Amino acid sequence: MSARNHEVQGLEVRRPQPQRSDRLRSQLLCPRAGLSDEPGAPLVTPIVQSTSFGQVPGGSAEFAYSRVSNPTVAALERALGDLEGAPPAVTFASGLAAETGLLLALVRAGDRVVCGRAVYGGTTRLLQQLLPGLGVETVFVDATDGAALATAITPGTRLVIIETPANPTLELTDIEAASRLAHDAGALLAVDNTFLTPVLQRPLDLGADLTVTSTTKLIEGHSAALGGSVVSRDEALLERLRFVRKSTGAIQSPFGAWTTLQGIKTLALRVERQSQTAAQVAEHLSRCEAVSRVYYPGLAGDGALAERQHAGAHGAVVSFELTGGYAGARSLLDGLRLCRLAEHVGSVETLVTHPASMTHADVSAADRRAAGLPDGLLRLSVGLEPACAIVEDFDRALDAVCSGAPVAGADLSEDPERGDPATLRERPEAPVTQAAIANDHGAERAAAPDAAGDSGALSATVAARSEGGVR
Ligand code: PLP
Repeated sequence: MSARNHEVQGLEVRRPQPQRSDRLRSQLLCPRAGLSDEPGAPLVTPIVQSTSFGQVPGGSAEFAYSRVSNPTVAALERALGDLEGAPPAVTFASGLAAETGLLLALVRAGDRVVCGRAVYGGTTRLLQQLLPGLGVETVFVDATDGAALATAITPGTRLVIIETPANPTLELTDIEAASRLAHDAGALLAVDNTFLTPVLQRPLDLGADLTVTSTTKLIEGHSAALGGSVVSRDEALLERLRFVRKSTGAIQSPFGAWTTLQGIKTLALRVERQSQTAAQVAEHLSRCEAVSRVYYPGLAGDGALAERQHAGAHGAVVSFELTGGYAGARSLLDGLRLCRLAEHVGSVETLVTHPASMTHADVSAADRRAAGLPDGLLRLSVGLEPACAIVEDFDRALDAVCSGAPVAGADLSEDPERGDPATLRERPEAPVTQAAIANDHGAERAAAPDAAGDSGALSATVAARSEGGVR
């Protein structure tokens, strides 16, 4: 990318840092998602809730049957493509449906897929439990290690899949380096961009061939609709994806498309605010005695890559590990009043997940640790509440964990705008007590030592979990 001045829809913007003007572009595009320039067109894209469309004999209408295409879905696809400077996206019924469509479109029996170990567990399950039946082998590798990735990408490799930042450990993979390695071997690179969205990261600009996103998360942003998308600048790939979608019937619904379009209108604003709050919360947690480790891009020595790859902010998700392990995490959850417990990220409300007792409860403690998911790990998806209210909720709950005292009810009556969390009170620096640990949910789990210090690559052992183990 050049460092010259850029025209952004009539605004001239100096580019001190390439990605920062991409953010301005998103700020301009998002509020106009789905908006038509036609005179008399509605400001809100209508929901065209129709399975079929009238045709004329011998004619070729743009819309014929909604399993193939639909006007509301098409408006969403244009908006998603625009955000990445690409042709219209191909949307699916969910993020995993998009990944399935991508795999069916690209790989054949005998092909090899190389996948980063740190990916969403559902991706691992798909590749490990379904693809072998179709004759496709997947090799999982620490994609953050360029040498390991280079070794894994052999001539038979058709597709390389990475997720950056990764769920839930937030480790980063260098997209430019991964795309060079994939292309040198004649393979394609697909990047799961769910945790940043095109507002903060544009994988196609960094050399990726395809971006796959669960629009269920930040893009829709209101916990109201499942969806997934694949974006590419290669028309032949897009055509192949549309063919697979038509053949499998995994298209986004018109109502889901409409809800997602409404979400995109505030996407840039939400992502910026949520990222800012997440950085403040991460910073605060990193100063807490009861927290042994915080995972947030830019905090853990990956600053240069985060700066180069992200458009000046790092997303809404923060993971952190409690010194009190499984019992400490569960006690903390009992004490939270504002943050809701749920298996979801990227929505407007702050949500917290405890992988060991929720998404990965079916996996043994040993396998979880091997997968980089220590029992005391919590994943926090920061919403739109003020940073100080979120910090206060954690401070109160952590104080109770540390002292073993019952948790008082939340008091959010104070002015939430009163200050930066850095200026909020520091919690007493008490260690996690045995009393808290005794309040356990399973002796074996409480006894299991935490894998503090494990950088947290989601190893392939995660895929060995039962089918219900990962949502
Ligand atoms: N990719 C990532 C990074 C995810 O976190 C998820 C779900 O949590 C998915 C893909 C799958 O998305 P969906 O739940 O929409 O199928």
